[in-house]
Amino acid sequence: MNDFFIADEERVIAPEYISDDNEIETSLRPHSLDEYIGQEKAKENLKIYIEAAKNRHESLDHVLLYGPPGLGKTTLAGIVANEMGVQIRVTSGPAIEKPGDLAALLTSLNDGDILFIDEIHRLSRSIEEVLYPAMEDFALDIIIGKGPSARSIRLDLKKFTLIGATTRAGQLSAPLRDRFGVILRLELYTPEELARIVKRSAGILNIEAENDGALEIASRSRGTPRIANRLLKRARDYAQVKGNGIITVESAQNALERMEIDELGLDLVDRNLLKAMIENYNGGPVGLDTIAAMIGEEAVTIEDVYEPYLMQLGFLTRTPRGRKVTPLGYRHIGYNPVENDSQGTFDSY
Ligand code: ADP
Repeated sequence: MNDFFIADEERVIAPEYISDDNEIETSLRPHSLDEYIGQEKAKENLKIYIEAAKNRHESLDHVLLYGPPGLGKTTLAGIVANEMGVQIRVTSGPAIEKPGDLAALLTSLNDGDILFIDEIHRLSRSIEEVLYPAMEDFALDIIIGKGPSARSIRLDLKKFTLIGATTRAGQLSAPLRDRFGVILRLELYTPEELARIVKRSAGILNIEAENDGALEIASRSRGTPRIANRLLKRARDYAQVKGNGIITVESAQNALERMEIDELGLDLVDRNLLKAMIENYNGGPVGLDTIAAMIGEEAVTIEDVYEPYLMQLGFLTRTPRGRKVTPLGYRHIGYNPVENDSQGTFDSY
């Protein structure tokens, strides 16, 4: 089964941030809601809340953004800060180790400022408890001293806004989730929206990209702007070395084929995942842990990163007994689902 172990440390189509991104990610971030492409529902809601808060000269309600990695949660937090005309401090759940770390951050904020906590579901319980009075009453309860002489004092904070981002809203504790006034879910982007993002990024990076070329990159980017920008960069390298420097539909196709990314944005890891399930488990059901072991990834990574897109394409389904490859999934990688019907593989369809 070892030939299925091909998970790459830095997968080109990983939706998470990889080292390849640092050169371009900051320069490509939109700075205003008008520049932010797609996510119309979330944008519309935010526009209203921002305007209302500004009119009342108040800070914005706490906002929770959730959705898969690379969809623009950090970008949106920065935009809210710009639109509100306030400062933003950026941190993440795992980076806040002690209650004192959070207290130091909170006391450094001014009225209206934004504290952005990425991966907020990874905050420890003791830190969450510091956050509750901070979010609700803009206060910090600090214990001074130890033992019988210990006493608690309450410190007032400025009226800040917390923006939390998470890939897994379900993992947030109920008391924390309830303290967010605004909860917005970001969706995977359509190829057309991604093509607009690719065109915009190409403009900033001084790359000439034809509309069809941009759409070709967009349709293979798994609904994720971060991946679209990364593929654009690779396609540019290819166009400059092998072509005339312009990203056309042909040069984009060639570049992506060289990276073994197929027309739907699946790479070798996805295809081998499906193949391993079909060849070794007759298409499933296969438990998440078994799939994780097959491709050498953590179960949560399969759930957060690989599965959502394969399920969106209708190649994989969840059943109470595990994951199953659908007939569509069989066909996509060149297997005939009919043969397996007789074995009851598709009894739930
Ligand atoms: P997340 O925080 O959800 O992981 P980011 O905000 O870091 O995602 O976005 C990743 C990259 O994708 C950023 O560099 C940004 O340029 C780009 N991006 C995300 N959303 C959009 C959008 N709506 N329009 C244009 N670019 C976007």
